[in-house]
Amino acid sequence: MTILIAGAGIGGLATALMLHQRGIKVQVIEQASHVREVGVGINTLPHSIAELAQLGLLPRLDEVGLRTRELRYLTRTGQEVWRELRGTHAGHDHPQFSIHRGRLQKVLLDAVIERMGPDAVKTGLRLAGFVQDEAGVSAHFTDAEDGCSSQTLRGEVLICADGIHSVGRRSFFPNEGSPSWAGVVMWRGAAEWPVWEDGETMAIAGGLGGKLVLYPIAPVHDGRQLMNWVVNIRVADASVSPPPPESWSKMAPLSKVLPYAKRFHVPGIDLEALVRGSGAIFEYPMADRDPLPRWTHGRVTLLGDAAHPMYPVGSNGAAQAILDARCLADLLAQAEHPREALYRYELERLPKTAEIVRTNRIGGPERVIDEVEKLSPAGFDDIDEVLSYAERQAIVKGYAKMAGFAAREKPQENSR
Ligand SMILES: Cc1cc2nc3c(=O)[nH]c(=O)nc-3n(C[C@H](O)[C@H](O)[C@H](O)COP(=O)(O)OP(=O)(O)OC[C@H]3O[C@@H](n4cnc5c(N)ncnc54)[C@H](O)[C@@H]3O)c2cc1C
Repeated sequence: MTILIAGAGIGGLATALMLHQRGIKVQVIEQASHVREVGVGINTLPHSIAELAQLGLLPRLDEVGLRTRELRYLTRTGQEVWRELRGTHAGHDHPQFSIHRGRLQKVLLDAVIERMGPDAVKTGLRLAGFVQDEAGVSAHFTDAEDGCSSQTLRGEVLICADGIHSVGRRSFFPNEGSPSWAGVVMWRGAAEWPVWEDGETMAIAGGLGGKLVLYPIAPVHDGRQLMNWVVNIRVADASVSPPPPESWSKMAPLSKVLPYAKRFHVPGIDLEALVRGSGAIFEYPMADRDPLPRWTHGRVTLLGDAAHPMYPVGSNGAAQAILDARCLADLLAQAEHPREALYRYELERLPKTAEIVRTNRIGGPERVIDEVEKLSPAGFDDIDEVLSYAERQAIVKGYAKMAGFAAREKPQENSR
C-alpha cells in the first residue's frame, strides 16, 4: 500500500513518520519549493508529545525547544487570574513543549528524510485535484512555480494535510467559501531576550478582543533565549470577509504593531523593547472554519488544519494534527480495507476536534480572562471576589478535559 500525503506541515510529516513506523509506504507532496522554517512560536501539549516520543524524537525536541513549566493568565494590565504548572511538572508523563514552529517542522522533516530517504518528500508540487476508483486514487499536482506543468501520482489513499486553504476540503465542499474571521488580527514575532522569570514560563494577558501571548521557545544561551510574542487585536467587525489567502502570512511594519503592543503590561517585561527588537513581524488573520459533517470520502480524507482549523487558543492546533496522525496510522495498519480505516478515523476524530473548534471560538481555557475582565474592567484587589477559584478552575480544567489532556494530572502544589 502507498499512501499519498498532500502537505508537509506538522500534520503531514507526523503522519508520514507514523505510517512508516507501521511498515506502510508513504509519498509526501508539498507545494513549497523547499520546506522553510516558517512561523514563530507554537505549543505542543503532553498528549501529542507522547506521540512524538513514540517516534523517538524527544532528544531532538530538547535540542531546539523548551519544556514549559508554568502557565499564567493575566488581565491586560498584568493582574494575575490563574497560574498552573504544565507538562511533567503538572504530573503528565510527557512534557509540554514551547517551540519555534519551523524548528518543529524541521525536526519532523529531517526524521522523514533520514528514515525514508530524500525522495519521500516531493516539493514544488501543488495538489490540484484527484479521481478515485475501486483500486486507488490518482492525484494531480501542478508545478507550484509555473502553475502549468503537472504530474499524476497514484496511491491507495490520499490524505489531504494541506492546511486551512485545503484543496481536498474545497473539492468536497466547493461552496464553503473563505475561512471565518471574527475580525481579530494576530501579529507574531520573536527576539533574543534576557531570561524572564525561570525561563520556562508562558503568560497570556487579556481576553479574545485584545490579547498578548508571551513565551520562550528555545533553550537559554549566555543568559538569553528566543522569546516569542503574539499580539491579537480585534480590528474589524466579525461580518467582514477575511483577507484573501495570498496575503495571509505577510510582514507588518513596527509602526503598525507598536501602538497595540503598548496596551499591555506584563510584570518584568519591557514589551515595547521586545517588539522593537524583533527582526520580522508577521501578520495573520485569526480564522477558523465551521466543523464539517464529513472528512472522509472513499479513499480520500482530511487531516490537521485541513480538517479542523481552529483559533490558536489552548495550544491545540499542532497537537490535534499529531493526534489525528496517530489515530489514522493505527487504523490504516489494522483495518482490512483502507476505506474502512478512513471511515473509522473520521468517526473517532471528527466529533472531538469539532468540540475544540467550537470551544476555542469562545476563548477556550483563556475565557477565564474574558470573564474576569468583563466582571471587573477596572481591575481588582482580590481575584476571588471577582470570580471564585472553583469558577476559574471549572473553565480552565473543563477545557483540558474536553481537549483530552487532563486525564492523568495530579494535584498541583502551586496552583491558585
Ligand atoms: C506558514 C505557516 C505559519 C504558521 N505559523 C504558526 C505559528 O507561528 N504559530 C502557530 O501556533 N501556528 C502556526 N501555523 C499553524 C500551525 O502550523 C497549524 O495549525 C498546525 O501545525 C497544524 O498543521 P497542519 O500540518 O495541519 O497544517 P499547516 O501547518 O498549515 O501545513 C500545511 C502544509 O500544506 C502545504 N500545502 C498547502 N496547500 C497545498 C497543496 N495544494 N498541495 C501541497 N501542499 C500544500 C503548506 O505549504 C503547508 O506546508 C502556521 C501555519 C503555516 C502554514
